[in-house]
Amino acid sequence: MSEICAKCGLVKELCVCETIAKESQKINVSTERKAFGKIYTVVKGIDGKIELQGDHRQKVKKILVKIGFSPDSIDVR
Ligand SMILES: [Zn+2]
Repeated sequence: MSEICAKCGLVKELCVCETIAKESQKINVSTERKAFGKIYTVVKGIDGKIELQGDHRQKVKKILVKIGFSPDSIDVR
């Protein structure tokens, strides 16, 4: 017997709730201060956490938009 999704009522094989959740996932770009006072730009919300040394928040956002992410889904702090 197939499991039914509680959200959409479809059998799990046909359910796309998780796919939609992934597509509407928020990307978070922020900076973190690490050991010895070094600033890192941290990108969360895409396949794995990305860390870059230095403050590259605006640059990262531009790159993410360029490769197809919606500017609305990118939260820069
Ligand atoms: Zn569903």
